[in-house]
Amino acid sequence: MPRIFSGIQPSGELHIGNYLGAVRNWVQLQHEVESFICVVDYHAITLPYAPEDLRRRTFEMGLSLMAAGIDPAKCTLFVQSRVPEHTELAWIFNTITPLGELERQTQFKDKASRQESVAAGLLNYPVLQAADILLYKADTVPVGEDQVQHLELSREIARRWNARFGDGFFPEPQPRLTPTRRIMGLDGQAKMSKSLGNTVGLLEKPDDMWAKLRPAVTDPARVRREDPGNPEICNIYHLHKAFSPPATVDEVATKCRTAGWGCIDCKKVLFENLNAELTPIRARAEALQADPRLVTDALDAGAAHAGTIAKGTMAEVRQRMGLR
Ligand code: ADP
Repeated sequence: MPRIFSGIQPSGELHIGNYLGAVRNWVQLQHEVESFICVVDYHAITLPYAPEDLRRRTFEMGLSLMAAGIDPAKCTLFVQSRVPEHTELAWIFNTITPLGELERQTQFKDKASRQESVAAGLLNYPVLQAADILLYKADTVPVGEDQVQHLELSREIARRWNARFGDGFFPEPQPRLTPTRRIMGLDGQAKMSKSLGNTVGLLEKPDDMWAKLRPAVTDPARVRREDPGNPEICNIYHLHKAFSPPATVDEVATKCRTAGWGCIDCKKVLFENLNAELTPIRARAEALQADPRLVTDALDAGAAHAGTIAKGTMAEVRQRMGLR
């Protein structure tokens, strides 16, 4: 049976980019394969943060994932720092990872360019990610497109370690992409990302959501209502593909190309369909907020199960490497 591992940073609220690029996929996969879903707090501390915020956000991320449909009875949902073996394996992988490979990672270059002082942990982030996945010998990683390059490096790390210490011990994990691989921020400038502050939160109130959606960037060719547009280059059209039924998606494309309606009409329909999917998620979040033990108990049980597997892997890794 395939085993999946996927992680999400508790660096901000769960947004619709995460949901479409990753979480919706996890919800489906938890019924089909053995799944490990991890709130990766060790990753979140690679950029400046306040400890109290991190504690709160880690809990809130667990809650949001459960609200979005992650069921702790069907998968292992846990917080990374509760299983310290992640950092032990990351150190070991650091000793076999070529520095040049780390320096050419796009996400590192992007994030580093926005920092005054760059921590070594930001550079080594993909090494920790390789450890996250391989600690559970996961062979499949359902992620958005932004993580494909990191996964290539995870495979390289697995190959290098296997070549030196244990042929075939670690699998070479493959990405599993969703149809919605990359959601742009509503400003249309860059991918929607917690660290860029251009997100639409999954649990945001409908009024706040509309306030962000209404001025969102569309095809710049549609200056006036009667100007036709190209849906393929419009972020709103891609969101329709993710949230609206196929007949609506066709209608949206036609009405955009023929200027059959204005962008606000198009956004109103998207808003309705978005709400239809998000209303039950918001309701589940409210129920969990009223009973937070449901979240903390689930995270405790997840950490206990993940810890057992992690200890088993590390015992064998140490043995093969001549440690202790
Ligand atoms: P963020 O970039 O918002 O900090 P994470 O790095 O925690 O998000 O990523 C969590 C998951 O969400 C990953 O699988 C990632 O590929 C996916 N993801 C993040 N942003 C997007 C996006 N804009 N479009 C599609 N998937 C995304």
